[in-house]
Amino acid sequence: MAETETKEESTAVEKEAKPKKKLPRGEVHVFDNWCKGCGLCIAFCPQGVLEANGEGHPVVAHPELCTACNWCYIHCPDLAIVVRKLNGAS
Ligand code: SF4
Ligand code: SF4
Repeated sequence: MAETETKEESTAVEKEAKPKKKLPRGEVHVFDNWCKGCGLCIAFCPQGVLEANGEGHPVVAHPELCTACNWCYIHCPDLAIVVRKLNGAS
């Protein structure tokens, strides 16, 4: 039992010691007059950046979480959403 606890403690220390991978940052913008409110961008955003307003159009609710992955841009059928990379993200 004591040996198991020691291994767990050791693993926890190793995890803390590893530097966190820095994710790219992005800035997303919605052209609301082009948006038809299909919700695809909201559904596909892996970071939960976008939320629907009362008309089902996306609002950028958590801009700080955007990683510039472009999934929202790729899936928008009406080209109503664009993403700009920040801080030299590639
Ligand atoms: S670029 Fe990626 S993380 Fe940013 S809002 Fe679009 S889907 Fe979400
Ligand atoms: S995918 Fe495009 S059209 Fe659909 S809700 Fe998002 S911005 Fe609007």
